[in-house]
Amino acid sequence: MDLTVNTPVKKLVVLGSTGSIGTQTLEVVRAFPERFEIVGLVNGRNTELFKKQLEEFKPVFFDTLGDIDANYAGSQFAPVEEIVSRPEVDLVMAAMVGCAGLLPVIAALNAGKDLALANKEVIVMAGDLLMKGAREGGAMILPADSEPSAIWQCLEGETSYPSRLIITASGGAFRDRTWESLSDVTPEQALKHPTWSMGPKITIDSATLMNKAFEVIESRWMFDIPFDQIDVTIHRQSIVHSMVEFADGTIKAQLGPTSMLQVIQHALMYPDRHENSALPKLDAVSMGALTFEDMDQSLYPCFELALEYGKKGGTYPAALAGADEAAVELFSTGKIRFTEIPDVVASTLANHDVIADPSVDDAIEAARWSTESTLSRHNHCTILS
Ligand code: MG
Repeated sequence: MDLTVNTPVKKLVVLGSTGSIGTQTLEVVRAFPERFEIVGLVNGRNTELFKKQLEEFKPVFFDTLGDIDANYAGSQFAPVEEIVSRPEVDLVMAAMVGCAGLLPVIAALNAGKDLALANKEVIVMAGDLLMKGAREGGAMILPADSEPSAIWQCLEGETSYPSRLIITASGGAFRDRTWESLSDVTPEQALKHPTWSMGPKITIDSATLMNKAFEVIESRWMFDIPFDQIDVTIHRQSIVHSMVEFADGTIKAQLGPTSMLQVIQHALMYPDRHENSALPKLDAVSMGALTFEDMDQSLYPCFELALEYGKKGGTYPAALAGADEAAVELFSTGKIRFTEIPDVVASTLANHDVIADPSVDDAIEAARWSTESTLSRHNHCTILS
């Protein structure tokens, strides 16, 4: 059966096109030239790759932090908020890293655009406002992150509310170490994820399990479920991407290879599924034993800390995202130790003047303040080892 007949071309904007999710999004687009058209590309500073993308995909518009002529290879510079709001745009892939993604995401939702969301910091910062924006604009938020995507796929077709979400976690690069033994680990070691290949910030966040706390906060908003009905379990194989339990005790799980391509393709093509020879397949016999373990909280102080402030609400989650962004940068540039990350984040949050019922601007300001005050406290530091 050929489902592509009469399927209208989906017009996309990709935010963060030179990052890990951005390049894989373009890989999916490349595999289905008859289904997708790139209207806009937006990137940060990887100018060399970005120019190649502009030459290949010929978007109508682009925005970049790099130094590129306003007219490049037939594409026109325009501010990102303007690009995502263009009437012809159907879907925006939000794959920027960190808090900077919030403004374009809000602009896209305000314009009623469907959003594929990989940039989880933005839903941590302002989950309530994002979901409200989507509801009011009549837009869908489609997860482009393996765990929320798994939950979403388990819920598809169900009419009952889930009783529990069970988010799986690989445990990150240091899952078999003790916390005390981690004081001398290097950024290179933290960047060796045991199962997934991802961008640098999310890989460090995976080693601290900050990323998992972000996914819990993300799921709380995306699936409108209380925090106490979301569990996390360590699943070393990263094959079960997450599970959902219903009132009758039935648990549904979504399984797949550890590849973001499937996740991205599902978000871009929803509700259709198509053969793509670039997608890895999973074989039930060769996947071997699947294990599920309790999470050792003592190994992951960031997890508890992040959930504490995620639950407090107001501008705290935005300040959390901002402080984490700074702490990851400080660790990556050798200014603090890995084991200092939770303390650095905690001391910023302890000094945050919270706003209880924030606007988008309040959330952005809280994250900005948090990043800057964290960086300025530690920027002069160097680790003596
Ligand atoms: Mg994930």
